[in-house]
Amino acid sequence: MRNHEAEHTPVTVIGLGLMGQALAGAFLRAGHPTTVWNRTASKAEELVAQGAKSAGSVAEAVAAGPLVVVCVSDHDAVRTLLDPLDETALTGRTLVNLTSGTSAQARENAAWAARRGAHYLDGAILAGPDAIGTADGVVLLSGERSAFAPHESTLTSLGAGTAFLGDDHGLAALYDAAGLVMMWSILNGFLQGAALLGTAGVDATEFTPFITQGIGTVAGWLPGYARQIDDGAYPADDAAIDTHLATMDHLIHESEFLGVNPELPRFIKALADRAVARGHGGSGYAAMIEQFRQHSGK
Ligand code: NAP
Repeated sequence: MRNHEAEHTPVTVIGLGLMGQALAGAFLRAGHPTTVWNRTASKAEELVAQGAKSAGSVAEAVAAGPLVVVCVSDHDAVRTLLDPLDETALTGRTLVNLTSGTSAQARENAAWAARRGAHYLDGAILAGPDAIGTADGVVLLSGERSAFAPHESTLTSLGAGTAFLGDDHGLAALYDAAGLVMMWSILNGFLQGAALLGTAGVDATEFTPFITQGIGTVAGWLPGYARQIDDGAYPADDAAIDTHLATMDHLIHESEFLGVNPELPRFIKALADRAVARGHGGSGYAAMIEQFRQHSGK
């Protein structure tokens, strides 16, 4: 349950790049006493003007409160900052790492924190700095629920989309990866389509409403495909992979004929060819999951 005290937990933010500054600013606006530290000290100046306290060292920043948020470039930078700390510096505190990384790095950090008696949450930020502290801010967190619960209201000040995913520390990084591959796949498909239509003089702007509607249509298929994946059964309720394959050939030929890059269509078909070779020609498209679960070795 929220109370006045919980909403004003002192917070430390280590790392004041574009994202770290946004995080510290959101904590300040929500009324949290906020201590900041950055390698390049000048980046703290604006936040200090807004009421933040600037720490003289990482150790001083960590000592300032029970909740320590780290957001720097990468995992190596996190280690560079935290490894030299005294063994007990983080004991009893909650360390929230919002630096992008892999699930293995998250689990490694969790083991490191546990050895120092710290609670650890790993996070992924699915938003730009402008969205932090707003209804559009999405921060996914995973780790010990007992570490999240006392700080839920504080962490939710980073965005209305702040969510706790579960006790596997690697989950936030995996959701991040899943979101990224979805984003780039949609963007690459959009660009392939824009390149194809561009050969007929159709502007990308003109074509965009069509593709936006298409993305919505495909999104509507996902719950049914998700059920098939979870059940491990892939009835071709809509179209069999064999049917998709014929159209994939058509896309490759169209691209080649028009002088548009055919690499993406060829890759799409190579995956479907492998599914057919494994006996899935008559299955629905969700049977392709096996091509993603397995590494082809190429
Ligand atoms: P950024 O503006 O480039 O800032 C990088 C930060 O890391 C700076 O505070 C920098 O310190 C610090 N840093 C780098 N190497 C360091 C080291 N060896 N020792 C100490 N400090 C070091 O990056 P950002 O946009 O804030 O991104 C930070 C994290 O948020 C990244 O993991 C990024 O993937 C993630 N993220 C960012 C966005 C976004 O839209 N920006 C969105 C989602 C997730 P100096 O100032 O001294 O260089």
